Amino acid sequence: MKNGHTAIREQDGEPSADARLNALRERVTAACSRAGRAPHEVRIAAVSKTFGPNDVSALAQAGQTVFGESRVQEARQKIPLCPGHLEWHMVGHLQRNKVKDILPWCTLLHSADSLELLERLDTACEASGRSLAVLLEVNLAGESSKYGFAAEEIPGILERAGAWIRLDVIGLMTLPPFHEDPERSRQYFRRLRELRDHARATSGFDLPELSMGMSNDFEVAIEEGATWIRPGTLLFRRRA
Ligand SMILES: *Cc1c(COP(=O)(O)O)cnc(C)c1O
Repeated sequence: MKNGHTAIREQDGEPSADARLNALRERVTAACSRAGRAPHEVRIAAVSKTFGPNDVSALAQAGQTVFGESRVQEARQKIPLCPGHLEWHMVGHLQRNKVKDILPWCTLLHSADSLELLERLDTACEASGRSLAVLLEVNLAGESSKYGFAAEEIPGILERAGAWIRLDVIGLMTLPPFHEDPERSRQYFRRLRELRDHARATSGFDLPELSMGMSNDFEVAIEEGATWIRPGTLLFRRRA
């Protein structure tokens, strides 16, 4: 399904959206087979922040359906200009006063990072008669520059979660400290999975989803159990 308006091969010789998506899928499949996992267990949220509707459309045409945004304002302007069949996730920090702004488009919030945010979301969902799937973001390295719960807070949050009628807490997300060497992310991905396994055994929440891994470390994340990976730059043209 290609039409003449979509740049299959870009002018400057960079790979096309098709080529980038296929290359990513091959690497996902290879990582899955190393880990003894089935490729369908790993889904891709293409993080399109800073990229425009044309870039999104090219990737959509190549077959990508799930996209992630990290800023409310940017998402609100971009999404109406993109193909209508796409699914949109919020992957970045959501300010508490912007909760209502994501409800029209967001089907999964990867970055629920405070109790107050979760409570406001539940109330806003109730008011608009819908529900929302959320992941709890965990700041495993305790970086002050990043949002997220401490690992120790997760059991307490899950105790509260039983009271949220409109929120489905379906898993955990993490964003480890950036290193060139993806192996340095492994310990964090492993800890997120162990935290999930422990929480699953003690909370009664199934928590099937683990959102972890970006352009530089998604293979390691898959080996450690990721069910959602969040590649951005790898799938799009280089950020300006
Ligand atoms: C920007 C971003 C990504 C994608 O990062 P890349 O390095 O471009 O793959 C993934 N997750 C979150 C939360 C982000 O903010």
